[in-house]
Amino acid sequence: MLKSVERALRNRKVAKGEGKAGLRRIYSWMHVFRGDAEACIPATEAELASKVREGGFSCIGKAHSYNGVQVVPRVNAMMMREGGLTTLAYDPQSHIATVGASVSIEELKRFLLTKDRRMLNSGNYMQQTVIGALLTGTHGYGAEPVMAHGLVSLTFLDGDGLRVRLTRNDPDFRYVALSFGVIAPIIEVELRTAPLEAFESVAHITRLSKKRLLQNGAVASSWAAVPYSSAADPMIMLHTLTPCEEAERLPDYKSRIFSGGWLAEVFLKHYWAFDRFFPSARRKMQHFVDRLDITKRQSVITDPHDLDYLYDPQPGLMNERGPDVLRGVFSTTHTAYNLAFHVPLDRAEAVVKFIMLEVEGLRDLGFYLKSLIGVRELEGSSHLPFAANFKGPVAAIDLFADPRDYAWLERIQRQVMQYEPDTRPHFGKSALVPGFRAALGEDELARLFAIHCKHYPQQRLIFNESVRGLLDVGRPTAGNAVAEAALAV
Ligand SMILES: Cc1cc2nc3c(=O)[nH]c(=O)nc-3n(C[C@H](O)[C@H](O)[C@H](O)COP(=O)(O)OP(=O)(O)OC[C@H]3O[C@@H](n4cnc5c(N)ncnc54)[C@H](O)[C@@H]3O)c2cc1C
Repeated sequence: MLKSVERALRNRKVAKGEGKAGLRRIYSWMHVFRGDAEACIPATEAELASKVREGGFSCIGKAHSYNGVQVVPRVNAMMMREGGLTTLAYDPQSHIATVGASVSIEELKRFLLTKDRRMLNSGNYMQQTVIGALLTGTHGYGAEPVMAHGLVSLTFLDGDGLRVRLTRNDPDFRYVALSFGVIAPIIEVELRTAPLEAFESVAHITRLSKKRLLQNGAVASSWAAVPYSSAADPMIMLHTLTPCEEAERLPDYKSRIFSGGWLAEVFLKHYWAFDRFFPSARRKMQHFVDRLDITKRQSVITDPHDLDYLYDPQPGLMNERGPDVLRGVFSTTHTAYNLAFHVPLDRAEAVVKFIMLEVEGLRDLGFYLKSLIGVRELEGSSHLPFAANFKGPVAAIDLFADPRDYAWLERIQRQVMQYEPDTRPHFGKSALVPGFRAALGEDELARLFAIHCKHYPQQRLIFNESVRGLLDVGRPTAGNAVAEAALAV
């Protein structure tokens, strides 16, 4: 409880700094990564261009990445969300939206609603900048899951502050479209949109062994495993979407009052509160629920005008209501560090079972996974070399832990990478380690760096130290502890 208050006060302090130019501490989401930089708030493109010519710089969207990819100390940090690059336009002929670097996902979604359109896909939070989210490979689930896949053009400033526009026909486009701060500032993008549509959204409480049967006919699925349930056949919450006209309306499953299922439902309804406020009881509670034989099905037809129907099919925004066990558990918590990575879809079940077994063995060291193990199924493949599903369908595995325990999640990521070499990173949520180079492709990474060198020969655009490691571009930049301590020789 005390910690929640402390965290709220800290967040307020950071929020107070927003909108102020000058030396500022830049924090990642959950404050695990930080660094001091000179905040610049570009009111216009001309002002941004002049700052780009001035000296070392980096770009920050809303600074919501968990893994610190946005943190570059001792440079001019272009605070794009706080700036004035607010272009928002829609062409009814091509159905393409034009979006500036200061626009948030929520602003874009609300604007598209006025045109009876929606984004093709999105993550479960809407305060990030559209461009920051695109550049880190942010995704939802189902078809065309990676947001950057919907890009048709983008415009950035080169090292002289001059505009460069790339369209899908340019060979460099597919690298720059998902380039995690290596090409910056990107000032404007054009995105495909989709018509508004209703879906039948079905939530099940079930077992992993039943998942495939229940997914029948669905166009998009995400599920979340209860981490301390039985690893042999984990208890899961499955969430599927089916286009509305195709949906076969099955009645919701109702438990008899005072039956095991009914008790479990009552308990699960309040699980989020226990999980948050009594973490030490977490494992025992999950064992108890696991022993009860729960089956539940709840179906909702989504409102085409609902902004967050992918994660919360009830009308209105999830954050405007109290949490609901069937739906709320799919959203990221505001109290946990979230680390994510992508594994080939057919390996997801084995990876989840491995994680459950591994964390069970770590409990005497005081480590607990928070919330649930999230799994979003990303279908199809993308032409963008750094998209999660470049090589085909993947599962996005989301793990949550107390922020002070984030390094345990990095350990689990490393173990999964050891046995599943096709593990691919989330550029805003994975620990970005050089071990990802093989899965991403050495040639593809070299190509991105060559594009960087072509447009920024003055070497004023500085990108994050982990990304430097990923691109294998040598010595650390000034301002990092590792450079100051002369650790890298
Ligand atoms: C609560 C929460 C929920 C989330 N849910 C999801 C989810 O459901 N699915 C998912 O995939 N991810 C999710 N994420 C991750 C999030 O979408 C990404 O980390 C995203 O990058 C954050 O966008 P941002 O604007 O904060 O970018 P930042 O974190 O500020 O920056 C990210 C990167 O983009 C670069 N950048 C930003 N703007 C520009 C620009 N204009 N030009 C060039 N480079 C730029 C930065 O240099 C940095 O490298 C979630 C994060 C949070 C905090």
